[in-house]
Amino acid sequence: MAAVKIDGKVLAAQVKEEVAQEVIRLKARGIEPCLAVIQVGNNPASTAYVNGKERDCGECGIKSLVLRLPEKTTQEQLLETMAKLTADPTVHGLLVQLPLPKHISEEAVIEAIPPEKDVDGFTPINVGNMTIGKPCFLPCTPAGCIRMIQSTGVSMAGKQAVVLGRSNIVGKPAALLLLRENATVTICHSKTQNLKEICRQADILVAAIGKEAFVTGDMIKEGAVVIDVGINRGADGKLHGDVDFAAAMEKAAYVTPVPGGVGLMTRAMLMVNTLQAAKLQNSMK
Ligand code: NDP
Repeated sequence: MAAVKIDGKVLAAQVKEEVAQEVIRLKARGIEPCLAVIQVGNNPASTAYVNGKERDCGECGIKSLVLRLPEKTTQEQLLETMAKLTADPTVHGLLVQLPLPKHISEEAVIEAIPPEKDVDGFTPINVGNMTIGKPCFLPCTPAGCIRMIQSTGVSMAGKQAVVLGRSNIVGKPAALLLLRENATVTICHSKTQNLKEICRQADILVAAIGKEAFVTGDMIKEGAVVIDVGINRGADGKLHGDVDFAAAMEKAAYVTPVPGGVGLMTRAMLMVNTLQAAKLQNSMK
């Protein structure tokens, strides 16, 4: 039987609608949630992502502040701009769109974001709090993956979960969040041996490696939940995931599409975090 497609568009719309309702309540109390996004340079993919964030804010009633700085901006200038936004109490969430030009240290920039405004969940403090299970902003992509799995009604507790990829922004935090849901988690990477066999045991398979159609039908367990994080520009000029979608639809029980899957949920989770930041900075739960 063909798998069910997990519709990121529908799910993201639901999440954003929930945020929008909460924002209305906050505004009635005089609080306007605000997200500041800084883009350095003109990377077209970054511009598209920043535009998307601006649109999402608009849909949720969140104030959006976008600062586009020239490519030649120095690290010092960027840190100065960030410091102003950090000190501004009307700005609740602050993020700097990655990647940055080569002459700027991403690490230094991320560390300059105060944890309470770190709506991307990338700062060491947030990552540490997530690791030990303390309240924090969850990184948007892994948090979106968990919401997508939850939407299937399939319990993660006790299941074999396999995460392909160990990056700091997707693979590692996705594994931690699956662990938090009581899954038994295996992380695979470029040095993993017997990767196909490991994937075949996965009740939940999260693919985040950045290689088009890397996950083939013979790597998928019958009835699995397959979450495809990958975004790859194919030779056809279109976006493709890390999973052979057609093959996955034949083997799995649930599959996320690309586009229309995790990417949209990532954006929605940023709105959730911004709302949460506004509440926390106004001492509300
Ligand atoms: P990275 O390049 O930072 O990490 C890729 C990971 O995949 C690494 O851990 C690497 O292993 C592993 N890997 C690469 N090749 C292989 C292989 N042949 N076998 C096993 N493991 C392999 O990528 P990101 O985590 O940043 O992103 C992954 C994908 O997700 C990309 O396509 C990206 O565009 C997409 N993405 C999508 C988002 C969304 O919102 N949907 C958000 C963020 C990313 P090693 O560590 O050993 O090098």
